[in-house]
Amino acid sequence: MSALPRPIINELRAVVGDTWVVVEEKAIERYLYDETAYGVRPQPIKDVIVVKPGSTEEVAEVLRIANKYKVPVYVRGGGTGLVGGAIPIKPGIVMSLERMDKVIIDSENMVAEVEAGASFGKLLEEADKHNLMFPAHPGDEGASVGGLIACNAGGSRAVKTGVVRSYVLGLEVVLPSGEVLKLGAKTIKNNFGYNLAHLFIGSEGILGVITRAYLRLYPKWGYTATVIIPFDSRVKAFRAAKKLLFSGFIPLALEYFDRRVIETSAKYLGLQWPIKEGDYFLMIMLAEALEDTLFLELEYLDRVAREEESLEPFATQRDDEQKTLLKIRSEIFSSLKSETFDILDTTVPLGNVDRFIENIIDVEKRYGIWLPVYGHVGDGNVHVHVLNYQGFSRDQLEKITEEVYNAALMLGGVITGEHGIGYIRRKYVKRLLGDTWIETMRKLKAVLDPNNVLNPGKVLPEE
Ligand SMILES: Cc1cc2nc3c(=O)[nH]c(=O)nc-3n(C[C@H](O)[C@H](O)[C@H](O)COP(=O)(O)OP(=O)(O)OC[C@H]3O[C@@H](n4cnc5c(N)ncnc54)[C@H](O)[C@@H]3O)c2cc1C
Repeated sequence: MSALPRPIINELRAVVGDTWVVVEEKAIERYLYDETAYGVRPQPIKDVIVVKPGSTEEVAEVLRIANKYKVPVYVRGGGTGLVGGAIPIKPGIVMSLERMDKVIIDSENMVAEVEAGASFGKLLEEADKHNLMFPAHPGDEGASVGGLIACNAGGSRAVKTGVVRSYVLGLEVVLPSGEVLKLGAKTIKNNFGYNLAHLFIGSEGILGVITRAYLRLYPKWGYTATVIIPFDSRVKAFRAAKKLLFSGFIPLALEYFDRRVIETSAKYLGLQWPIKEGDYFLMIMLAEALEDTLFLELEYLDRVAREEESLEPFATQRDDEQKTLLKIRSEIFSSLKSETFDILDTTVPLGNVDRFIENIIDVEKRYGIWLPVYGHVGDGNVHVHVLNYQGFSRDQLEKITEEVYNAALMLGGVITGEHGIGYIRRKYVKRLLGDTWIETMRKLKAVLDPNNVLNPGKVLPEE
């Protein structure tokens, strides 16, 4: 039972209604965790209550109460975050936006007006009914739209579509004071002053609660294809990837993985990886409005594959086959999750991906371990899983993680291209971003959230 004083709970009940204030331990349990790997996931504090506002006004009232009593508020979307961002670590309130899930499609303007608690899956479904789509696909469809914006999520299509930030035309944000900030419009261009919305995109729940967004939609692609190009050497695979990218050819996705990684995922799903030849693969997804363009691209891919000495490429335009291939690729994360200490989302400049992976292989050799490596070679974002190797201490696993980070940093990269800082990467902030970054962020936070009620203990290091 929460130690939050009874009068505060009563005030919250008066705002959202009795049903929407959850105090029973069992019912709270599912709001305490996210998808962060078990090895690094913070221990949640159980001394919280869950509050589920149904409107922007209710979010504002809840924040006013929290501010008045200086009670921490942990905003929660779909709980699919991978860095502990939504996990409560101080006694207080978990604010779940699950009731705020309306999606309105304005097809004439190709804009979705979405409440922040709507799932990404729901946004896709609603857009689809109007023959429209949200072009980026930043991972888990159980994520909420608010969470995707708060984390500025990426995904495998970023090479062509960019990340979530590129689609946010307008935002409604409730500040910790309870004031409501309306930013942007349904327009594609908007030059009316400093674009404050971008301050909240990627702010990981520490500056304000995103309650609504205008998102830009596009007409659905008419034609898609998926091509797997196998190679007998990693070097050849990367040479081909570079040749494609540097030629100006922009696929929807350009992914790399090796046989061991992809077969682990196929086995987990009870499927077979259909490509028998080669041990290193490029997976290229194409999406175009015109079929002729798609065919020209397929021909071009075939030519590059042969010039770069690939084995026999496999190409399909069949929906079911494309879905199966994508499923096997997408479930790599899940297939490794139970033995993963931490999943990293290191990102390096485009031209350095091959060198980064060579450095990872060097770490593998030195420690005598398997470091599954795969990901978005098309945008430099490569996932590395550090596993729970038998006989390795926590310190050793952290040392391996640091070695992967250092490999990225030495090549001009960053330690996170997708998942963010959240809780688990706070300890690297000082070393990597420096005191001035921290001070500037603290000043910004103090202006918007002087009582530090929103997501305390996340992103910024403890003072
Ligand atoms: C299988 C799987 C695949 C994934 N693939 C990708 C991928 O390809 N690319 C990628 O970038 N990520 C990926 N992720 C990570 C995750 O889906 C994203 O980080 C996503 O943006 C989290 O959204 P959420 O609603 O689940 O947020 P939550 O986990 O609920 O919260 C994440 C953070 O956002 C804050 N937050 C949530 N809602 C709001 C709001 N309305 N206002 C203010 N702050 C808010 C929370 O306080 C927290 O700090 C994947 C995760 C899984 C499990």
